[in-house]
Amino acid sequence: MLKDKKIGLIGLGIMGKPMAKNLVKAGYDLYVSDLKKESVNEVVGCGAKAATNKEIGEQCDVVLTMLPNSPQVKQVMLGANGLINVMHSGQVFIDMSSINPVASKEIAAELAKKGIEMLDAPVSGGEPKAIDATLSFMVGGRQEIFDEYKELLETMGSSVTRCGDIGAGNTTKLANQLIVACNIQALAEALTLAQKAGVDPHLVFEAIKGGLAGSTVMNAKAPMMMEGNDAPGFRIDLHIKDLNNVLDCAHSVGAPVPMAAEAQEVLQWLHNQGKGAADHSAMAQYYEKLTGIKIGR
Ligand code: NAD
Repeated sequence: MLKDKKIGLIGLGIMGKPMAKNLVKAGYDLYVSDLKKESVNEVVGCGAKAATNKEIGEQCDVVLTMLPNSPQVKQVMLGANGLINVMHSGQVFIDMSSINPVASKEIAAELAKKGIEMLDAPVSGGEPKAIDATLSFMVGGRQEIFDEYKELLETMGSSVTRCGDIGAGNTTKLANQLIVACNIQALAEALTLAQKAGVDPHLVFEAIKGGLAGSTVMNAKAPMMMEGNDAPGFRIDLHIKDLNNVLDCAHSVGAPVPMAAEAQEVLQWLHNQGKGAADHSAMAQYYEKLTGIKIGR
C-alpha cells in the first residue's frame, strides 16, 4: 500500500509547496525539507513533518525532489552530502524538477549501482495547477516503477503519462518548452507585422484564433501582449533555464535546434533589460523595441 510508505519531498518553492500540501491532504505521511525555514514551517503547519535532506534519504521509502535545475538535483542526490550516501536498495527516487535529461540519466545510473530506482517526472501547468492538483506529469523510467507510483503522482496532477525510459520525462518537457517559446516568438512577430502594416492586431487575433494558427499559447498570450501585461505566469529566467537544457541536450545528441537558439537569444536580451522575472510573453517587447510600436495600443 502506497499510503503506508514514508514520502519525502525536498524543495518547497512556488511549485513544491502546494504539491506538498496536496500530498498531506491525500493522507500521505510526508517529510519535507527546504533551504527556506518559512516554507518548511508553512507546510508543517498543514500536517507534514520537518526533516533534513539526510533524514529524508535515510528514512523515506520514496524521495521526491522539486528543485530548480540539474546542478541542484545532482548536488542533493550525488554531492558530498548527497542522499546516495545514505539511501539503500529498494528505495525510489522521483525527480519532479525540470532538468536536462542527460543529467537524469547520469543520476539514475549512479543510483542504480545501489539498487535505487528512479523516475524523472517533470510537470507542466505552473502554480495554479500545482495548487489545484491538476498538473500534467511527463514521466520517464521503468514501466513497473511507473505503474507502482502513478497513483502518488495523481495526487498532484490530473494527467500522468509515461513517455519512455529514464530521461524521457525531461526530454518531453524540453520539447514542450521549445514549442511554447517558438510559438510565443512567432505570435509576437506576427502581431508586430500586422500592426506595422496597418491592421489592428486585436482583429487579427479574432480572425485567426479558430484556424490552424490558433493555439493555447495564442489564446493565453496575445491578450497579454496587447494589454502590455507581463505579470508572470511563467518567468523569462525559467524559460532561459529550460532552453539552455534544450541546447545542451541537443548538442549532446546531435539534434539541430536553430529555432530554440534564436528564441533563447531574444529571452536573454530581455533578461539583460531587467525582465528576467517578467512573463515569457514579454518576448513581444523585443519586437516593440525594434519597431517603436506598442502592440495593440
Ligand atoms: P523555486 O525556485 O520556487 O523552488 C525551488 C526550491 O528549492 C526553493 O524553495 C529552494 O530553497 C529549494 N532548494 C534549492 N536547493 C535546495 C537544497 N539543497 N535542499 C533543499 N531545498 C533546496 O522553483 P519552482 O518554481 O518551484 O520550480 C521547481 C521546478 O519546477 C523547476 O525545475 C521549474 O523549472 C519547474 N517548473 C516550474 C513551473 C512554474 O511555473 N514555477 C512550472 C512547471 C515546472
